[in-house]
Amino acid sequence: MRRKLAAGNWKMNGTAASLAELETLKSLLPANAPDVVICPPAPLLFRASEAARDTGIQIGAQDCHMQDSGAFTGDISAAMIADTGATHVIVGHSERRAAHDEHDRDVRKKATAAWAAGLTAIICIGEALEDREADNTLDIIAGQLAGSLPDHVSAANTVIAYEPIWAIGTGKIPTLEQIVEVHDFVRSKIVTRFGADTGDMIPLLYGGSVKPDNAATIFEAANVDGALVGGASLKAADFAPIITALANS
Ligand code: PEP
Repeated sequence: MRRKLAAGNWKMNGTAASLAELETLKSLLPANAPDVVICPPAPLLFRASEAARDTGIQIGAQDCHMQDSGAFTGDISAAMIADTGATHVIVGHSERRAAHDEHDRDVRKKATAAWAAGLTAIICIGEALEDREADNTLDIIAGQLAGSLPDHVSAANTVIAYEPIWAIGTGKIPTLEQIVEVHDFVRSKIVTRFGADTGDMIPLLYGGSVKPDNAATIFEAANVDGALVGGASLKAADFAPIITALANS
């Protein structure tokens, strides 16, 4: 059985007061809750890790630098993230790729840096609207998988999140058929590249406007093992029903 995971990406939202949401979320988690990871902004990582202790909720960062240390003003390394008590890090989010000019080769190095620090890398891929409209989605996904995934992925160190860029923060989501097509494609690609023992066990998340009212439908897809959730992860009252839908899928 693959592990199910609900990951919340708070993006550049939240202050210390927002950490109260972790306690609320804990109180709303179903008994059969899947893995839950909250990725707050970097300044909250340490306090979030402390607040999440004994809640069953894990903490992740939203990005890391590819180097261990050095003259990289404003950046944080994977080791620093691990030092806060966090266990995961998102790499290659489309907002990082677009706003910080990150490419597949950078994402690959960041994932390797994450593993070296003992973190699980949540590696994001996804097509732009023009790729979707030009019927290039699977080619784009194949290229991102080839370029962004290092060679030594394992089910313990890697989660892949398929996030169509046009669905992030827009309220638009692909049809279930489109989600199934991409997730089945990703599964077949990673089984071919890494073998069935690894490729069949890596969790695949869908991300892009997942909400309490569409989550159960998305989780019907066999190769959707969870979700990467932005806006709806900010409030425990919104995130909890998504987690419950995943638990019951
Ligand atoms: C995201 O930030 O990865 C995301 C999927 O955002 P949203 O759920 O708000 O679309």
